[in-house]
Amino acid sequence: MAAQFDLRGKVALVTGASSGIGAATALALARNGAAVVVNYHRNEHGALETVGLIHAMRRNAIAVRADVSQRVDVLRMIGEAVDNFGGVDILVNNAGSLVKLVSIEDCTDEVWDAVMGVNLKGVFLCTQAVIPYLKEKRRGRIINISSGAVEFGGMAQTLPYAAAKAAVNTFTKGLSKELGQYNITVNAVSPGIIMTPIHDQFSRPEWLQQAIATTPMQRAGGPEEVAELVAFLASDDAGFITGEVLGIDGGR
Ligand code: NAP
Repeated sequence: MAAQFDLRGKVALVTGASSGIGAATALALARNGAAVVVNYHRNEHGALETVGLIHAMRRNAIAVRADVSQRVDVLRMIGEAVDNFGGVDILVNNAGSLVKLVSIEDCTDEVWDAVMGVNLKGVFLCTQAVIPYLKEKRRGRIINISSGAVEFGGMAQTLPYAAAKAAVNTFTKGLSKELGQYNITVNAVSPGIIMTPIHDQFSRPEWLQQAIATTPMQRAGGPEEVAELVAFLASDDAGFITGEVLGIDGGR
């Protein structure tokens, strides 16, 4: 049975909640009482499925399409959150992608910008857009989904992604200093190997097998395990934790 955190009356925006960790997080936050804005980019079907599961729990949710790397999309998405639920209390910057496996020698400007766009600029844009709503309530939670790739530079051909996530960790720590005075906490969660569709798209099976075998706990994590940590960080129970990057990686 999942842990219980009281998020009743709170509004959560989860970016990239059409699959994997984002979908599991949207469900966990809803289960604990929050109304959820389920953001997606391309996978409308997945987002609607997440919303359907939340409605089945008798909680509120809406799906909103937005490319988090685009300011106009982000502002429209926050506008929809405010119109539907009156504000945002919890922002989970989860949307992320490796975009394309490529060495630095072969990396084009387009690929570099796309990786930084979704993994780093998206965090900046969504954060900047919700800050006024969090400040207004003098309470807020920002939780960024980073990656254990930061610790070792990522697997082969994923350096732009690892570099973007390293910047997310620094952004998390710095922002916690800016926002602490408003009772807004800012933390990052840094997953190891979590079984989600991202691996079908980007991980070679031999690499994945080896990565799991060298994880001290000898298994991959589930998206629900990450989601429970996010739900804790979103709750009042975690009110004095800020500026942290919390690994959830089976000891990797
Ligand atoms: P996933 O199932 O592929 O989910 C990625 C999500 O990001 C999807 O909902 C996708 O939306 C969304 N997304 C991608 N580009 C977007 C954009 N431009 N605007 C808005 N949304 C966008 O992968 P996941 O494993 O759950 O990944 C979630 C987060 O965990 C990512 O930040 C990832 O880097 C991080 N992470 C995962 C692992 C792991 O082992 N799984 C490890 C470390 C870190 P659409 O499909 O709708 O386009």
